[in-house]
Amino acid sequence: MAARTDQVTDPAIAAALLLARRGQAYYSRKLNELSDADFDGPTLLGDWDRRHLIAHVGLNARAITRLVEWARTGVETPMYASPEQRADEIDFSATLPAHALRNLSDHAAIHLTVEWRDLPAEAWTNEVRTGLGRIVPVSETVWMRTREVWIHAVDLGNGGRFEDFPPELLDALLADILGAWDRRRDAEGLPRYLLDVVDRDGDPLGAETDAGSVRDEEELVVRGTAAALTRWATGRGADGVLTGRGEPASPAPRWL
Ligand code: ZN
Repeated sequence: MAARTDQVTDPAIAAALLLARRGQAYYSRKLNELSDADFDGPTLLGDWDRRHLIAHVGLNARAITRLVEWARTGVETPMYASPEQRADEIDFSATLPAHALRNLSDHAAIHLTVEWRDLPAEAWTNEVRTGLGRIVPVSETVWMRTREVWIHAVDLGNGGRFEDFPPELLDALLADILGAWDRRRDAEGLPRYLLDVVDRDGDPLGAETDAGSVRDEEELVVRGTAAALTRWATGRGADGVLTGRGEPASPAPRWL
C-alpha cells in the first residue's frame, strides 16, 4: 500500500509542494465561486473564455501528471503529443457540460497531487522534458504547476488578485520572469529593466547585473509593489506600476 504522506525528503521541494497545493486550493475556490452559467463568460486572457481556461488548467494537471509518471516509471510519456493536439484537446474539452469540466478540474488535480505524494525521494531528480522541450528534473513540475494555478486563478476574472499571493510566490515569479528576459535579451533586444519593489527591502531587482551600479540607456526603472510588478511582468496590466520618472509603464515583454 502506498504511503499517505509525501515521500520527498528535500525540504525545498517539500516547501514548493506546499505552495503548489495552496495555489490549487486558491484556484479551485475561485472556480467553485462561479455558477455554471458563469463558465461562458470571458477571462482576463482575451482569446479564451472561462470554459477554455478551465479545460486548459485541468488538462495541464494531466499533462504534468504524465511527467511525474515518466519520472517514476522511466517510461517516456510527454506532456502533449504536439502543440496541435494540446490545442485540439482544450477546444474539445471546453465544450463539455459544466459539471464535467468541474470533474476534470477536481480529478486531474487530485491525481497530480497523489503522483507527487507517492514519488520516491530518490526519483525527484529524474529528468523529463517539458512541453517547450526543456530537459528538467521532475521537481521542476512543481513550479510549473504553481505558476499555472495561481496566475490562472486571477485570469478567471472573478476576484482573484495578485495581492492574495504569498510574498515568497511573488518573489519567485519576479525572479523567474527576470531570468527569462535575461536569457532572451540579446536575441530579442529586450530592455534591461530594474524592478524597484516598494514593499521589499534591498536593491532593485535586476540591479546585480554588470559591475556595481553601472547604468546604461537600456536600463528602465519600473516601480510598484511586488504584487503590482508581478501583474505587470506577467502581462496582466500596469495598474499600480510606474516608471522611474513617474509615468505609466509600457507593457512588459512576454514571459514564456
Ligand atoms: Zn496556462
